[in-house]
Amino acid sequence: MNFYLTEDQQFIRKAARELASKEIRPRAAEFDKKAEFPWDNIKALAEYGYLGMTAPEEYGGMDADALSHTLVIEQVAWADASTAVVLEVHNSLVIEGFKRWGTLEQKEKYLPSLASGEVIGAYALTEPNAGSDAAGIETTAKKQGDKWVLNGRKVFITSGGIAGIYIVFAVTDRSLGKRGISAFIVEKEFEGVSFGPLEEKMGIKSSATCDVLFEDVEVPLENLLGNEGEGYKMALAALDSGRIGIGAQSLGLMQAALDASIKYAKERNQFGQPIANFQGIQWKLADMATDLEAARLLVYQAAFLYDEGLKTNKRYSKEISMAKLFASRAAMKHTIEAVQIHGGYGYIREYGVERLMRDAKVLEIYEGTSEIQKLVIASSLLQES
Ligand SMILES: Cc1cc2nc3c(=O)[nH]c(=O)nc-3n(C[C@H](O)[C@H](O)[C@H](O)COP(=O)(O)OP(=O)(O)OC[C@H]3O[C@@H](n4cnc5c(N)ncnc54)[C@H](O)[C@@H]3O)c2cc1C
Repeated sequence: MNFYLTEDQQFIRKAARELASKEIRPRAAEFDKKAEFPWDNIKALAEYGYLGMTAPEEYGGMDADALSHTLVIEQVAWADASTAVVLEVHNSLVIEGFKRWGTLEQKEKYLPSLASGEVIGAYALTEPNAGSDAAGIETTAKKQGDKWVLNGRKVFITSGGIAGIYIVFAVTDRSLGKRGISAFIVEKEFEGVSFGPLEEKMGIKSSATCDVLFEDVEVPLENLLGNEGEGYKMALAALDSGRIGIGAQSLGLMQAALDASIKYAKERNQFGQPIANFQGIQWKLADMATDLEAARLLVYQAAFLYDEGLKTNKRYSKEISMAKLFASRAAMKHTIEAVQIHGGYGYIREYGVERLMRDAKVLEIYEGTSEIQKLVIASSLLQES
């Protein structure tokens, strides 16, 4: 693996940083306070083409590699984690899904509007009784004549109600267990699709999260994504890409925590000197920066391996889970430390670090909890030996 970013990757990182600093960061606190969907941010990102980062050029996308995508998510999360998760799900789970499993007709129909950002994508796997155990989903899809009919309820869906296109996982043959799950492209406007109220969350408050309900929703046969019965395999493969995105989100949050902590430690005087002079504070900064660099190497490596795997048809789930596990854990730990470095002011909204701490917690939960990442890593280790 080459440890240096290519010129293109350096350029994309710099451009994303500029946009994040200028457009996204200044609005993050207000969107969080109002728990309002960050449309202005999404529009700004769309204008620069980032909504189509992973889409092929012929559909209006950038066709960026996974590392470039990672660099952009990192910069956006540095500015606002809520905006970053919308972008991440849209690119890593939805566009990537179309790219990998979509038919030519599906790509032609759906990718241009996703790539331009005219339509946002969502990924609907989790259900009330099936979170970590995704094979336990109960939503059904029954073939009736020239259509599939979907019934069920998905929970915690990022961009629920906002998104125009949903990749929905449903059971097509219960007798086959996880081999009886398939994926469908469902449009918001299909009759029988409805949405629950927005969840009131601890963090990433300005991203929209809600139930998505399906009542006798008729889906054309041609909207089956991938092969019938391969939905579970596809859901996990898509999460490989998504988990790199969550790792990138973790990096952005940690960098924001480190930046704020260094600035504050130099400015705040106690005992007649800046608190940055105290070794107790210096050690926190050193630990934060070291974990951030270690996480960065793991996440960038995961992105690099993901692309290699697409070329060689090999999955690197162990390395990807390691990156997500380590980076999300470090982000949680160090955003708490950032609050500690800020003392009482850290607990006050105005200083912004409490938002980083609230936003960080979900990194250890969504797209597979830390416990599930450990199961992926351990099962891979045990198979290898
Ligand atoms: C803000 C937010 C946004 C989300 N966005 C989406 C989305 O867009 N699409 C989507 O499909 N889902 C989404 N999710 C759902 C998310 O992926 C799930 O919440 C997550 O996978 C965990 O499932 P669960 O909440 O049902 O927890 P559970 O699976 O019930 O887990 C509860 C606890 O038990 C532990 N546990 C479970 N099984 C094991 C085991 N075998 N060994 C050890 N420990 C175990 C878990 O680690 C956890 O600590 C989102 C969730 C949140 C909070």
